[in-house]
Amino acid sequence: MVSAEKSTHNLHLHHPLSLIPFPFPLVKFQTRVLDWFDKHGRKTLPWQKKPTPYSILVSEVMLQQTQVNTVTPYYLRFIQKFPSFMALARASVDEVLELWSGLGYYARARNLHQTAKIVCEQYGGEFPPDYAKIIKLPGIGRSTAGAILSFAFGARHPILEGNVRRVLARVLGIKEWPGSPHVMTKLWKWALCLVPARRVAEYNQAMMDLGALVCTRRFPRCLECPLSGMCVAYKEGEVHVIPVAKPSRLKPVKRALFLMIVDRSSRVLLERQNERGVWRGLWSFPHCDGVDEINRTVAIYGVKTGALQFLTPFRHTFTHFHWDITPVVLQSSRISKQKGQEDVCWYPLDASREEPSLGLPAPIKRLIKLLGTF
Ligand code: SF4
Repeated sequence: MVSAEKSTHNLHLHHPLSLIPFPFPLVKFQTRVLDWFDKHGRKTLPWQKKPTPYSILVSEVMLQQTQVNTVTPYYLRFIQKFPSFMALARASVDEVLELWSGLGYYARARNLHQTAKIVCEQYGGEFPPDYAKIIKLPGIGRSTAGAILSFAFGARHPILEGNVRRVLARVLGIKEWPGSPHVMTKLWKWALCLVPARRVAEYNQAMMDLGALVCTRRFPRCLECPLSGMCVAYKEGEVHVIPVAKPSRLKPVKRALFLMIVDRSSRVLLERQNERGVWRGLWSFPHCDGVDEINRTVAIYGVKTGALQFLTPFRHTFTHFHWDITPVVLQSSRISKQKGQEDVCWYPLDASREEPSLGLPAPIKRLIKLLGTF
């Protein structure tokens, strides 16, 4: 995400919002950030080598909610299989979700797939360098749009992802949760004023790197920080209370039995999750509320009932609820019918057999692996 332009600190700001009173000179802030970037910033990430709107979009979407180290192998596999908007648009949703399996937040993958289709259908495969058009694409918010415009097109747009938000909240000493709408409005105004007229891509990358490498959530390295001289949180000894945590709301707890029906050929039954579920489009074991529903599911598949084996329950947490899951294994010697063939798959537990291309959530992958050891 580094532009070819190099080495100018002749920075200017020509935006009316620069009238906002800052507790420090803007140029000093920008210069310190860029000087630090020149020495310590990340310049060899896979998506920085030959940045294109497509590679920046894929990396930015993957980096939402996920750290660079986790994203890198997923990004490399994704770009190898789908090297362009056209390749991604032509893929099936199963192929896309398979490559996303384990990365979580699967709506990102579905939105990316949709965006590729729109770019091909409406813009002839060329990503539009136009904020008003980009912001309408599925799953692209203001910060991701800013990243694409600055990294791929060199346009002067700020970003405000989690790392940048944390740096600004601390530097400005904001003692409210930065995710609240009125604080976000202020932060966007500041972010817009601070972004320089030149070296925009490097500045945006520098702010993300500062947050990821120096101004980290739990152990900020203030003594190595180029902004310590102008940081309110540091000066006031409040680094560990800023950013203020999101007001906690107890997450609801849901419960389910995962029915793992294994046939005599060592295959386990998976169902494609419907359009409304949290794993929609992905594949999972049949979910049951209780033993009665297990009996109904068994009847639907015409499974000869054997003993149910209850495994150790575990909790899987989503952003908006906890899911307490009890896996239940049913070894079946006879299966006489199947519902909706295209939404049902018998998945081989033997790792040496060819696995179908399916999107599998991380807990399902783990349970399949566990079943393979039985
Ligand atoms: S001085 Fe510390 S708290 Fe302030 S921006 Fe730097 S690392 Fe973050």
